[in-house]
Amino acid sequence: MTDPRRPPEVDRAAASRRAVAARRERANLKKDVAMRVITPQELLRRALSDPASPAGAMRITEFLTSIPAIGEGKRDSILSELAISPVKRLGGLGARQRVDLRAYLDMRWPESQPRGGRSRLVVLAGPTAVGKGTVAAHIKEHHPEIHLSVSATTRPPRPGEVDGEHYYFVDDAEFDRLIAEGELLEHATVHNAHRYGTPRGPIERVLADGRTALLEIDLQGARQVRAAEPSATLVFLLPPSWDELVQRLVGRGTEGDEERARRLRTAKTELASQAEFDFRVVNDDVARAADEVARLAH
Ligand code: 5GP
Repeated sequence: MTDPRRPPEVDRAAASRRAVAARRERANLKKDVAMRVITPQELLRRALSDPASPAGAMRITEFLTSIPAIGEGKRDSILSELAISPVKRLGGLGARQRVDLRAYLDMRWPESQPRGGRSRLVVLAGPTAVGKGTVAAHIKEHHPEIHLSVSATTRPPRPGEVDGEHYYFVDDAEFDRLIAEGELLEHATVHNAHRYGTPRGPIERVLADGRTALLEIDLQGARQVRAAEPSATLVFLLPPSWDELVQRLVGRGTEGDEERARRLRTAKTELASQAEFDFRVVNDDVARAADEVARLAH
């Protein structure tokens, strides 16, 4: 006789597969907070908007220790300070606990807030291999009203690249002249190799015409634009997850092991700077991400 209270074999197998998948998702979320791919506040938002999701099912203890800088001692003192039981799951926090936890996170790790008015000078940056170039190319094709800045570079053209369209290809002497004459809005040496810079003139003309300019540049350049034009809108392109970024880097297959390891280390540092940006856009789908960036640029 089968026990009527016991679920059939197939259901139990499916339930155990679901449990394994949910555990894996929770582990990925924790890793992404640890690697700063997402902020703790973002994970909390996901948990509260859907308590049945993997984020919602995460224990408060796991959540806290996934945050860099929180060890077990610190975790326990936060829990007692906020009067939260260690067995609580994020999705099951009480109204008061949610507010207190959020306030604590904002105090310790403030997320940069979008500024009031949006600027028509928009910078798109992000970690290596996240797909900035592809997103920028998509915007250029589908949003012709947005002017995509053409940079000057000392890198030689790749096959198919056209001078004046993809880049202005210049030699070192010409790049030095552009800097000396103040013709670059920002410039940087990228990947320890070549120099890249944004010509100032075209950007000023576009802005004077009341149009929007989009700069797809590296992190150092983004910081210089922020310093020169504090009202610029800075957008950080994120990978959907750390694993996905690794896949994209490995998938390209253009670098050796050592170079790949170096780029992954660089990507980690780059991701850590996302809080400096006004907006974060996840590149889960090129067309979707491009549309989101284009909306921010209007
Ligand atoms: P690539 O050589 O593959 O075209 O570009 C390499 C990197 O240079 C990319 O990360 C791109 O964002 C960055 N880059 C391109 N143009 C500029 C620029 O004008 N200024 C800065 N700072 N970085 C740039």
